[in-house]
Amino acid sequence: MTFMTIFLIIFTIGVVLVVRWTVSVFVRQEMDELALIKDRYEEFVSVKKGLDGRKTVLEAEVTQIFTLYDLTREITKSFSEEKTFQTFKTKLAQNVNFTDCLLLDPLAQDQIKDKEPKNYTLLTLTGQRRKLGILALSGVSEEQKEKVTILANQFALALRRVRLYQDIERLAITDSLTEVHTRRYVMERFDEERNRAQIHKTNMAYLMIDIDFFKNFNDQYGHLTGDQILREIAGIVKAHIREIDIIGRYGGEEFCVVLPDTDYGGAGYVAERIRSAVEQATIKAYDTITKATVSIGISVYPQDGSKLNELIDKADWALYRAKKEGRNRVCSFGVYGNEDVK
Ligand code: GH3
Ligand code: MG
Ligand code: MG
Repeated sequence: MTFMTIFLIIFTIGVVLVVRWTVSVFVRQEMDELALIKDRYEEFVSVKKGLDGRKTVLEAEVTQIFTLYDLTREITKSFSEEKTFQTFKTKLAQNVNFTDCLLLDPLAQDQIKDKEPKNYTLLTLTGQRRKLGILALSGVSEEQKEKVTILANQFALALRRVRLYQDIERLAITDSLTEVHTRRYVMERFDEERNRAQIHKTNMAYLMIDIDFFKNFNDQYGHLTGDQILREIAGIVKAHIREIDIIGRYGGEEFCVVLPDTDYGGAGYVAERIRSAVEQATIKAYDTITKATVSIGISVYPQDGSKLNELIDKADWALYRAKKEGRNRVCSFGVYGNEDVK
């Protein structure tokens, strides 16, 4: 073996070793890079999983917000309590399974006593200061109860809005001292009833009631007690007319009453009933106990006129006549007026 051969063998072995070392270095680098890519891939997968979870939560929230928006939009369309409740029920049925849904008065929970109360879930609907009602639901699963509570809260807001509207409407047409209607409201209804009487060719009557010597009460007991006496007398008049009759405070200590579908005979009968009830009543105002009387003037459509002003003037005239005749009495324009006025 020559020196050259030995050199070639050693050289070849050297080259092979260098190549193997180089290849192993490259492979190690590749492996490291692969491991890095794998780590990053796993990181991405876990981030994606997180995002998917968040997406599901957000989708659920969007659905809930949309459901609430849709419910709110629909249940705030009406100012009627019944319609608002019906709309709520329809919307609830689109989102939750239930067998029965009732709106109960908070003071009358026994409304469901004949319906197996234990099957019902009761949710109290509250406004800012008062209980608005109780929602009684049956057939709702445990999982859906939270959803029902969220939708019921929205319904409570709508109900509060309806009640506020009802309060405002009532206040606008109610005299704050006597709690009968305001003059403006009675005049509007008077016009409607007069038109109705015209169409149906029926009668209607108008009463003007004035408390006798009311000034004396103020002078004797003071204005506060005077106010209370006025309120009591308004209550007596109100208690002696029909549900369909419309009573209002005309001004001061004067009241007006519209009697639909009533002729002279009927009006005289009602007016006398009012007069006699006031006369017989014992009026309690704070620590004062007293008696009072009223005088009443009557006019009737169409005999005494077709316009509101004419009818008011003629009832006023009859009232003046009742005062002149000695008070505590009823006068019809038709009885005296036709002779005297012309
Ligand atoms: P008559 O009708 O019988 O002729 O006598 P009267 O004393 O009732 O008549 P008048 O119209 O002269 O007086 C009405 C009084 O009613 C005068 C007023 O002080 C009183 N009055 C009117 N409105 C109110 C009220 O809201 N509260 C009180 N306390 N008094 C009132
Ligand atoms: Mg008066
Ligand atoms: Mg008077």
